[in-house]
Amino acid sequence: MKKRKYYYNDEWKEKTFTKERSKKLSESLKRYYNHNNNNPMCGFQKEHKINNGRKKLEPIWNKGLTKETDERIMKISKSNKGHKTSEETKRKISKSIGGKNHPFYGKSHTKETKIKMRKNNSGKNNPMYGKVGNKNPSWKGGISFEPYDKGFNNIFKRRIRKRDNQVCMFCGIHREKLKRALDVHHINYDKQLTIPQNCISLCRPCHIKTNHNRKSWIKLFQDILIERYNYEYKENKPIIKFTRTTGY
Ligand SMILES: [Zn+2]
Repeated sequence: MKKRKYYYNDEWKEKTFTKERSKKLSESLKRYYNHNNNNPMCGFQKEHKINNGRKKLEPIWNKGLTKETDERIMKISKSNKGHKTSEETKRKISKSIGGKNHPFYGKSHTKETKIKMRKNNSGKNNPMYGKVGNKNPSWKGGISFEPYDKGFNNIFKRRIRKRDNQVCMFCGIHREKLKRALDVHHINYDKQLTIPQNCISLCRPCHIKTNHNRKSWIKLFQDILIERYNYEYKENKPIIKFTRTTGY
C-alpha cells in the first residue's frame, strides 16, 4: 500500500492506493502524456497550448504563492527540506528536459513578451534592487573602490599581454578569437601592486570567475607564473621576492 498525496479541490488529501491501482494510474497518465514519455511536463505544455488557442491560459496552481502565504507550499517545502537529488536523478532530469527536449528549445520570446519581462524585472522589481555596496552578496569590503595604481596603464597592460603571448592564462583562448583585449588581472587582488609578478592576462569570462574563491585563484595564478617565468613568491604572503624579472 502506497500513500499518495495529491491536490484536489483546493486542499490536500491523502489517499491510499494499492500497488495495482498506482500502476494503472501511472500508465494512464503516461498514455495521456504520450508524446514524450520521458517528460510529463510536455503533456502540460501541450494542454496549455490547447487552452491557449481556445481560451485564456489558466495560471499554474502555485503561481505567486509562497510558503509564508500558502499552507500547501509550506507542506511541500517541509517535506523537501534536506532532500538532495542524486547525481543519477539529476542526469535523468537533465536528459529528459534538457536540450531538444526542453519545452522552450528553438523558441524565443516575442518582442512584446520581452518588453513585459523587462518591465517586470527592472527597477524596484529587480531582485538585486538596492543591493549595492555592503548589501551585495559579492561585497568584499570596499576593495573595488581602491584606486588602481598609476602604473596600471595601457603601456603596462600591453606588456603583460605580450608577456603572456596574448593568451588567457586560464583557459588558453587567444586574443584574436575575442572581441576585446584581454583583461589584466591583479593576482592578489591588490590593485596598488602593479608589478608583472602580480599581473596576469585573462579573458573576460575567466576574469569574472576570479571574484569567488580568491585564495585558490591566487595560488593557481602564482603557480602558473612560477612555471612560466620563474617568478618567486613568499609562502603565505601576497608577494614577492624579486629574483628574476624574466618575461618582460
Ligand atoms: Zn579565459
